[in-house]
Amino acid sequence: MDYEELRRLMVETQLVPRGIRDPRVLEAMLKVPRHLFVDEPMQHRAYDDMALPIGNGQTISQPYMVAVMTELLELKGNERVLEVGTGSGYQAAVLAVLAAEVYSIERVEALAVKAREHLRSLGYDNVHVITGDGTEGLPEKAPFDRIIITAGTPQVPEPLKEQLGENGILVAPVGARFSQQLIRLRKTADGITEEYHTPCVFVPLVGKYGWKE
Ligand code: SAH
Repeated sequence: MDYEELRRLMVETQLVPRGIRDPRVLEAMLKVPRHLFVDEPMQHRAYDDMALPIGNGQTISQPYMVAVMTELLELKGNERVLEVGTGSGYQAAVLAVLAAEVYSIERVEALAVKAREHLRSLGYDNVHVITGDGTEGLPEKAPFDRIIITAGTPQVPEPLKEQLGENGILVAPVGARFSQQLIRLRKTADGITEEYHTPCVFVPLVGKYGWKE
């Protein structure tokens, strides 16, 4: 398999035609080896236009969804980012290319361990994977310039709003259990503004300020 060629096709057929424009995001999507974040039998499908199973009932998000959420974060390179829902670690790797420091929280220990190994072996040294309930955020490392939630939630957890720094941006899929919409919050000195974006379907964010088990 020519994975570099598959990545180029993914960018040209799935991302550019649907409006992904940020050249840094497109470049990161061309660069990060998505197939190395899924199990071997699934690798040949890693660049398909869909989410894929990663074990423990969880999924790696569709490439387009990763690109949209990343673009909405408006990363310039010097940000400290919090991700809630490490999953495979793929989104974290994309963030690692585009920001300074990434803290990523995963609830399922087995996934956290695997993601940490993949990220380390690929040299993404600016990602820190933490096991725990990401709905509570990571107060000891707050404030964050950017926060991304990669699991569906009924509302944006209050601790995450609090841990977002001034001029910060938070992106999350908010809505019902089986259908959500991407929301972007911006925190300014005057308060928090909200915008609604693409409809989407994510696995549930389970935790104190998310869905109950
Ligand atoms: N960003 C991932 C996709 C994540 S799927 C990737 O690139 O592969 C959503 C993940 O969120 C799942 O792994 C799930 O276990 C995790 N999750 C759900 N609730 C969580 C919580 N409260 N805190 C941290 N992780 C959570």
